[in-house]
Amino acid sequence: MEFKDIIKHITDEEVIKITSDLVKIPSYTGLKSQEKEVAEYIYNLLKIEHIEVDKYDVLENRPNIVARIKGKGNGKSLMLNGHMDTVPPYNSKDNPFSGEIKDDKLYGRGSCDMKGPIACMLGAMIAIKRSGVVLDGDLYFTGVINEEQLSQGTEYIVKNGPYTDAAIVGEPTGLNIAAGHRGLEWIEINFIGKATHGGTPQEGINAISKAAKFIRKIEEEVVPRFKERNHPLIGDPLLNFGVIEGGDQPSSVAGQCSLYIDRRWTPKESFDLVMNELKDAVQELKDEDKSFNAEVHRYFEDTDMMLHKPLEINLDHPIVKSLENSIENITEKKAEIFSFQAWTDASLLSNYAKIPSVVFGPGFLKEAHSDLEFVHIDQLKKGYKIYTKTAVEFCTGEKE
Ligand SMILES: [Zn+2]
Repeated sequence: MEFKDIIKHITDEEVIKITSDLVKIPSYTGLKSQEKEVAEYIYNLLKIEHIEVDKYDVLENRPNIVARIKGKGNGKSLMLNGHMDTVPPYNSKDNPFSGEIKDDKLYGRGSCDMKGPIACMLGAMIAIKRSGVVLDGDLYFTGVINEEQLSQGTEYIVKNGPYTDAAIVGEPTGLNIAAGHRGLEWIEINFIGKATHGGTPQEGINAISKAAKFIRKIEEEVVPRFKERNHPLIGDPLLNFGVIEGGDQPSSVAGQCSLYIDRRWTPKESFDLVMNELKDAVQELKDEDKSFNAEVHRYFEDTDMMLHKPLEINLDHPIVKSLENSIENITEKKAEIFSFQAWTDASLLSNYAKIPSVVFGPGFLKEAHSDLEFVHIDQLKKGYKIYTKTAVEFCTGEKE
């Protein structure tokens, strides 16, 4: 069956309405049973279309949705993955749950991150199902919980399946292909000093001064190494000193100080290397200064949370090729292949479930998490067509 005979089974208006409906259902961090209502909406929508769909409680009252259009079983399978949670409205202007359309934009929290992409994925599932075409491989949609915090929804997929031959994670990439991104972990460094009165500093050890020494060493000796670990698509590693807190009051020598680092690493580095070079810096400072004492930890080390490693895919992989073709066909422009500025669930699918994954979706990252979030209607209109065409192309043909 040709693409035009499949895509005619759904309209722009339907996809726009699904986006708007999803935005009207709040699912932000901090809400009780956060994603439940969005999950119910998606479940019912797919049920009406006679698409096989299940709910799995990942956390209490917080289910993932897994839907499948079964293929003939001899072709490559594909997963469309989208997170159903959003960040809080914060200082949103207007009503953040209006789902209102003005000047070719659909407004509201989650409109681009990522209820718009989810609506487009659902549009693709519905068009394919209604058309009656049977693809060679299975096509899955997975709606996951909790991406904005701990990614437990996609971790559940990693542990329980489905395991497909490729996956597209639907973050807002402006309809371009994000074929990689940096890994991301938070690292905590605790400096241990000795508190005393500010009038007798010789009796104490100032943990804030020790932290300053450490920061200088990192900036002068560690950061300059980063350019040697440049990745052609992803760029240089990054390190940010995000938070520092220590001491009790100005007239006391600070007995302790904590420093929190955001470290984004490239596939040219490992997380062990990232941690070891910070630990080595601490050791060198200890060797030259007997009163220096500090400990380095992964911020989430007391949890079983999977490491947030970098994402990388071979640019010749069939999913990249199918997406490139489909984007060019629908937008009449060559797809840009770039590195995403944020970490995504595609990393978990790719590193832990060994599913080659890319990030692709309507909308732009700069609009995500903003005080006036929106998605361009034009991006939605093209987005669902690209997902559909890519799925049809990727899931057609014998599996190698
Ligand atoms: Zn997102």
